[in-house]
Amino acid sequence: MRLSRFFLPILKENPKEAEIVSHRLMLRAGMLRQEAAGIYAWLPLGFKVLKKIEQIVREEQNRAGALELLMPTLQLADLWRESGRYDAYGPEMLRISDRHKRELLYGPTNEEMITDIFRAYVKSYRNLPLNLYHIQWKFRDEQRPRFGVMRGREFLMKDAYSFDLDEAGARRAYNKMFVAYLRTFARMGLKGIPMRAETGPIGGDLSHEFIVLAETGESGVYCDRDVLDLPIPPASVDYDGDLTPIIKQWTSLYAATEDVHDGARFEAEVPEERRLHTRGIEVGQIFYFGTKYSEPMKALVAGPDGAEVTIHGGSYGVGVSRLAGAIIEACHDDAGIKWPEEVAPFRAVILNLKQGGSDTDAACEQLYRDLLAKGVDVLYDDTEQRAGGKFATADLIGIPWQIMVGPKSLAEGKVEVKTRSDGARQMMSPADVVARLG
Ligand code: ATP
Ligand code: MG
Ligand code: MG
Ligand code: MG
Repeated sequence: MRLSRFFLPILKENPKEAEIVSHRLMLRAGMLRQEAAGIYAWLPLGFKVLKKIEQIVREEQNRAGALELLMPTLQLADLWRESGRYDAYGPEMLRISDRHKRELLYGPTNEEMITDIFRAYVKSYRNLPLNLYHIQWKFRDEQRPRFGVMRGREFLMKDAYSFDLDEAGARRAYNKMFVAYLRTFARMGLKGIPMRAETGPIGGDLSHEFIVLAETGESGVYCDRDVLDLPIPPASVDYDGDLTPIIKQWTSLYAATEDVHDGARFEAEVPEERRLHTRGIEVGQIFYFGTKYSEPMKALVAGPDGAEVTIHGGSYGVGVSRLAGAIIEACHDDAGIKWPEEVAPFRAVILNLKQGGSDTDAACEQLYRDLLAKGVDVLYDDTEQRAGGKFATADLIGIPWQIMVGPKSLAEGKVEVKTRSDGARQMMSPADVVARLG
């Protein structure tokens, strides 16, 4: 992509409304535009990041055996009356009526709808276990939308729903999602720490929140520092095998949100020097809720002996759009964003330090073509901006590899390559750059 043809509305000033660094940087880097409180348009740079995050979430859900579908954003109020949540949900639910005065709502979550789909088709234990998920926009009329995409009103969530014959099966489904979440956040360069959590309006009796530690996070958390260094299960993890050793390892060290924190236990279990009390961002949450929805909504299957069994369910959410902010909170410096490679909007950027110079132009064009030919998603800053401005833009938008093409080094057959993550610089020939990135 040539920057001269891209749509990258960079802001020079710090937007006044942005209280935290990720919100500030997303606005400044031209990723996002607020359309109403808590409602955002994702501009091209932001949209590329959002899609990368979504794809990682999808790949790890699929790897764990969940099946993707897509449910609508609008739901019938009557469905929510069946579970009793239409009244219970309160003012966070956006209620709408159509021209026939039929009551609808913009879905804040999908337990009711997926249970309705399940009960319509699945009649036998033979079709279990089943885990269905979608990645869809949600609406919650948050009392205080703030911090940009961290607490939006409209936001993108991955939500998965598992169906099993009994509690033991549901726990296996829960463990799969637990492991999938460990991998998902790690692939984005984050430490998403599972912590015991309250079940809230979803209900149920077993839950973990996945928390990224950050001072700007809205949740108070307590944990054993050692939990930060536990190993992430590899891609080869056998989801059909016994996952309990992994779960045991992660849950035997103390980690809890403030809602369920037990001070006495914390002090008894964790030596003082390992006690960590800080704040964090909730990037995901998993629930086992048994028959909370299947019972009132009559999601029953025939068991092996022919008798009807009420299925046991769980639900598993990831804040896909919130993650864009959470990653920036974890990966930035004073100059801007430092994208981990897996979610970067472009992998590399070429900075032509003398636009209009015949040597630099020719070298940049060649490098640009060669990198594209190798399948590298590269941005070419071919604008008329001065070198200093190009450095600032590249640092702000956080592309992992910056390739600086200036007349002096080019005379010696070299370009300068800077890695954004650590600021390290090295001189390389264009051919070596292509070999390194391609
Ligand atoms: P929070 O405690 O931040 O309000 P929640 O517990 O209400 O979140 P869940 O119902 O657990 O949210 O939804 C699953 C995930 O969706 C959350 O872990 C979070 O990452 C994301 N999420 C929830 N609310 C928002 C929001 N208003 N804006 C962006 N992401 C959100
Ligand atoms: Mg909430
Ligand atoms: Mg929460
Ligand atoms: Mg939650």
